[in-house]
Amino acid sequence: MISGWLFDAYAKNNKMVFWIKQKNGKTTRLEGEWSHPIYVAADDKSLFKTIIENEIISGFVSSHQVLPKYESLTDSSESLVLQLRLKDSNKAVKLASEIEKMFRFGQIRIYNVDVLPAQTYFYEQDIFPLAYCQIYDKSSIKWNIKDDVWSTDYELPIFSNVHLRVFPKIDEGKIPRYTDRIGHIEIQNYMTGETVEIEEESEADIFGRLMKEIADINPDFMLTDDGDSFTFPYLIERANHNSINLELGKEKSPLIKPRKEGTSYFSYGRIFFKPSTIKLPGRIHIDTDNSFIIAESGLQGLYELARICRMPFHTASRASIGKCMSSLQFYYATKQNVLIPWKPTLSEHPKNLEELIIADRGGMILEPRIGVHEKVAELDFVSLYPSIMQKMNISAETVLCRCCLDSKLRVPQLDSYYRCEKRRGLVPKALEILLTKRKIYKKLRNSVSDIKLKKIYDSRQTALKWVLVTSFGYLGFNNAKFGRIDAHIAVCAFDREILIRTMRTAEWNEFEVLHAIVDSIWVQKKDRHTNLSQNNYERLKDEIETETGFDISLEGVYKWIAFVPSKDNDIVGVPNRYFGVFEDGTLKLRGIEARRHDCPVFFSNYQQIILNMLAETDTVNDVITMFPKIQDVFGKHLKLLKERRVSLNELVFTKRTSKNYDKYQDRNTVENNAILNLHGEGKSLRAGEILKYIIIDYYRSNSKKRSIPIELANSRTKYDVKRYCEILKEVTSTVTGPFGLMLKNEPAM
Ligand SMILES: [Zn+2]
Repeated sequence: MISGWLFDAYAKNNKMVFWIKQKNGKTTRLEGEWSHPIYVAADDKSLFKTIIENEIISGFVSSHQVLPKYESLTDSSESLVLQLRLKDSNKAVKLASEIEKMFRFGQIRIYNVDVLPAQTYFYEQDIFPLAYCQIYDKSSIKWNIKDDVWSTDYELPIFSNVHLRVFPKIDEGKIPRYTDRIGHIEIQNYMTGETVEIEEESEADIFGRLMKEIADINPDFMLTDDGDSFTFPYLIERANHNSINLELGKEKSPLIKPRKEGTSYFSYGRIFFKPSTIKLPGRIHIDTDNSFIIAESGLQGLYELARICRMPFHTASRASIGKCMSSLQFYYATKQNVLIPWKPTLSEHPKNLEELIIADRGGMILEPRIGVHEKVAELDFVSLYPSIMQKMNISAETVLCRCCLDSKLRVPQLDSYYRCEKRRGLVPKALEILLTKRKIYKKLRNSVSDIKLKKIYDSRQTALKWVLVTSFGYLGFNNAKFGRIDAHIAVCAFDREILIRTMRTAEWNEFEVLHAIVDSIWVQKKDRHTNLSQNNYERLKDEIETETGFDISLEGVYKWIAFVPSKDNDIVGVPNRYFGVFEDGTLKLRGIEARRHDCPVFFSNYQQIILNMLAETDTVNDVITMFPKIQDVFGKHLKLLKERRVSLNELVFTKRTSKNYDKYQDRNTVENNAILNLHGEGKSLRAGEILKYIIIDYYRSNSKKRSIPIELANSRTKYDVKRYCEILKEVTSTVTGPFGLMLKNEPAM
């Protein structure tokens, strides 16, 4: 018998490969017969025969049968569909396309095509990554799971992890190319804290040592900074050049460069670039550059996410949060015998004009009152949108369902909308585990004293928070398999209703509402001379909870808070652009430079210094008294810039490109300039990739050298003093402006 944690799983032809991490630290490989199924539905069942008898199709298929399945979430009965098991699990899309070619549009419908085979296996077998399991017979795997995905105190193995860094031999200011030879390699061992340096006479020797060191350490997780986009493609290229088979996984198979470098894709109105991924069989390669979840919640968050959403680590670490959410929904769909559409199907319910106007208002209720306010409390609802979906049973198939035409469960303000009285929706079902576990993890985090445990619970609740945050956007996302805009609209309507009740409750309690958006409100006592204790706010919180039926928490009471105007319009406040100081002296910042990732470090650090000074004040008057000191700090930074004593690294702007490099010819902005310069030197950015540049000659609008990409900068590069000084001034104004304080143009040097 083998017992241990299910560490990795992937499909190989008509088999599944599993890696089990045992308590003694060893990892064992298992293999089982299984292949991925796709499903075909048709009104004319005789088409099934046409499919099965087709020669091309039978080349892909290992077995077939006709089964009852729900074609859609809204169906009230099952229909007979054709199940086709693949000879090679990884060829589902190819097979589906071949079938599609055989028929006229609409004659057939195809399901479960673009679901990762390992995920389908997890759903079918009811297992998940890191599940503790026992297997009695290696030759025919039956999962005996001694673990529960609902558990909040599961035991985990001790993993051996390394970080791999490769340094090509290049001159300063040159972009590394695949033709550059390897300079040296570092393997940082997290288990021992040691770093192995590999520097040898020849590249062949470097590879020899690299493979030996990795085999000796035998890591489970291998972290890189940019393994998908550079480190591994580069290593593979160098290995090929030296006619070496590069083996870094646990299986004896050399790494192969992916056919495609990657793809650009849209998500929430922005474009991103995903490089093709490099998988190391038996180990998990985590590209820290290509992993949102690792950046937000570390490995502990990833473990929790992979378990709950039932995705292998390789995929889970790179997946968008929306992908994780859909995997969780696919699991519940599979349990309900519902098929997963290949292409989205549910369409929008036609709306009348008034409904459109109300619907499009989204979650915005009360614009912030710009300027500075003293003694303001912020209250935030806990996971409000997902809680609404769960509590109000909102899902694609429960809003405007076909089974309850005269339902008494209505949607506020939207007269023609109603909710199902008979069935629990798929989305509320999937949200339940996320909401419940997050609540428990938060409680555990706040109650344990052990710092390490506290951190683990916090990482797990953070990972769940992100899935919950996305769950709403995903509900209305047209490309989501089980999404539907009407469900999205219903949630917004409930949200507005809840916020309006919240504001009313605040006003009854003699509070003025300064700003309300989505799931937060900021309130100030109307009579500002009364001294309020924590109790007054707790009472308000309790009343809001009674009035709305949803959990709200007191984020804190600000000594003062500034709502910052939009950059283009001084009168209109921008939601999510504010800064303030809580009573305990901690700062909260949103949307201003110190928090923004695209802002050069020099400015964000500088603004943080000013904000730290402000954090020590108690009143608006204190800030005004402090102004000469701020002016002083400004002067010192201005001097650093003017004397060129700021390093280039601190002046880098970071920007995600919105289109491919060759679409940037039209306007000569500093960004376009940098992109074209980079292209000229052999690095062509695709839509969604990250550009980093320094401004060198901002005001020469015809110049081709207004800015320089960081890759091309060297010790002779000179930044544009005038432009950077102007930005320093703007960054200062963001935090002094709300107090009505204006900087002198030329401060004392
Ligand atoms: Zn119904």
